[in-house]
Amino acid sequence: MSGIAERLRAVRSGLPDRVTLVAVSKTQPAESIREAYAAGQRHFGENYAQEWRAKADALADLPDLVWHFIGGLQTNKVKYLAGRVGWVHTVDRLELARELSRRFAARGAAVRVFLEVNVAGEPAKSGCAPGEAAALADQLRALPALELRGLMCIPPAEGDPRPHFAALRELNRALGLPDLSMGMSGDYPVAVEEGATVVRVGTAIFGARPPRG
Ligand SMILES: *Cc1c(COP(=O)(O)O)cnc(C)c1O
Repeated sequence: MSGIAERLRAVRSGLPDRVTLVAVSKTQPAESIREAYAAGQRHFGENYAQEWRAKADALADLPDLVWHFIGGLQTNKVKYLAGRVGWVHTVDRLELARELSRRFAARGAAVRVFLEVNVAGEPAKSGCAPGEAAALADQLRALPALELRGLMCIPPAEGDPRPHFAALRELNRALGLPDLSMGMSGDYPVAVEEGATVVRVGTAIFGARPPRG
């Protein structure tokens, strides 16, 4: 068994059935994605539109592979994603949501999205303020080609992530949303305990990331 297949199995074995594992493959070569796919993995997350497109083209022969876009997204890059990406985790403003709906609708497609929340109000981080989430969620729900599935967060790098995960779960519940995207290699077991339905795991599956080329 390859290292990737082995690590995938280890990560999966710790996840309840209700949790979808998104294998985060940013800066990893297409061949590593192919290896994970051969081991049964179907959901993959990418952060950079240009890099993702090259890999999506190289892997176009894998029909049931589902792409999740999880990186910061500029409105002018949305056109490349339209109809090719199943999920976007990083919607944090109405302008971006409108462009996603418009571009996916033009392809006769829809996109499932998470509203990203800046749970700790970190100045350098994307995501809407927790207090803005309810109003934004209402606006997103009105867009025809967008399916709002839940909230997403990346807690601060320092400190205990649990209170942030718990707060996001409560906000998600108050909004009546079914899914919750939280948890990375370092903290996904805690995120699952706190109610994550989607975890985004990179290095624990693929090993250390090569620098971005
Ligand atoms: C890179 C990334 C991950 C995966 O991080 P790991 O620590 O390698 O598991 C998860 N979510 C987002 C938004 C990321 O950018």
